[in-house]
Amino acid sequence: MAKIKLEYIWLDGYKPMQSMRSKTKVVDSEKFTGKVADLPLWSFDGSSTQQAEGGSSDCILKPVFICPDPDRKNAYLVMTEVLNADGTPHESNGRATISDTTDDFWFGFEQEYVLQDPETGKPLGFPADGFPAPQGPYYCSVGANNSFGREIIEEHLDICLDAGLNVEGINAEVMAGQWEFQIFAKGAQRAGDEIWVARFLLDRTAEKYGVVVDYHCKPVKGDWNGSGMHANFSNSALRTANSQEFFESICNKFAPKERIEACIAVYGPDNDQRLTGLHETQSIDKFSFGVSDRGASIRIPLYTVQHDWSGYLEDRRPNSAADPYKVASVIIETVNS
Ligand code: ADP
Ligand code: MN
Ligand code: MN
Ligand code: MN
Repeated sequence: MAKIKLEYIWLDGYKPMQSMRSKTKVVDSEKFTGKVADLPLWSFDGSSTQQAEGGSSDCILKPVFICPDPDRKNAYLVMTEVLNADGTPHESNGRATISDTTDDFWFGFEQEYVLQDPETGKPLGFPADGFPAPQGPYYCSVGANNSFGREIIEEHLDICLDAGLNVEGINAEVMAGQWEFQIFAKGAQRAGDEIWVARFLLDRTAEKYGVVVDYHCKPVKGDWNGSGMHANFSNSALRTANSQEFFESICNKFAPKERIEACIAVYGPDNDQRLTGLHETQSIDKFSFGVSDRGASIRIPLYTVQHDWSGYLEDRRPNSAADPYKVASVIIETVNS
């Protein structure tokens, strides 16, 4: 009887960035239908992940998304939500805070990250002492003088596509050793599921090469770009608005101080180091929006203007270490306010 390997992935309770944890459940192929609804709940020791006390340590894993695991024989990846023993969502469970579980909201996340040499603690392409040539040639570069770690990101792209994740593109970024992938999905939860699974596959692929994926939003201080996770979003109202006023009214919902604080609270740790007003960002304490403006908090893409003010918006503030579930959650809450 063939056996199937299910890799249950969850987010732990560490702060400020939750890490991914995973463990393998081996099941009989006869009992496996491939459907999320048929997958068993599972439990884990929450006292080892900062999610429970030792005295009552069990937390529950509830499967919410499944895809093939192309890098392992007879295997699938299962994204899960963490529940308390009584079945309620655990406080670390950002996915459960998403109010809109339809696919009316579409999200395209641009996940930036830096490949890091664990021996030097520096990005690939940085010498052990000092710095490489100033940034400029690295963005979308080709060639061994400017492009570092391509074999890893190519392998990651193929694995993601084979898994059925909706990666729309990849590119080398502005700092040496910095890269990006974009994932688009209809439905906030689905977009978050795919980003987390893609991060898992990125970490596991880089691990094979002895390379670390650094999700910190400002890995190198000074005149080096930080890492973001721009959140492109739309709902049916925005996609069919045909109205500049409507777009501006949505942007203005993000402007009150209370909203700025609610957003920044979940847009990733240490974002003050990245949102400085330099390096294609707006300052963390300011809010602005503008057409094609990469120095704004929210950019109105040219696409939207060219399609007679129907389309999407780009919130440029979320950083590379943010939880896409929580980012989507606060954007939906704000748009619907
Ligand atoms: P840039 O680097 O110029 O900011 P990218 O091409 O890297 O842009 O990313 C743009 C993202 O916008 C893509 O992930 C894409 O899927 C997403 N996107 C496009 N149209 C929509 C839409 N209607 N709703 C939500 N996201 C969208
Ligand atoms: Mn991009
Ligand atoms: Mn980018
Ligand atoms: Mn962008």
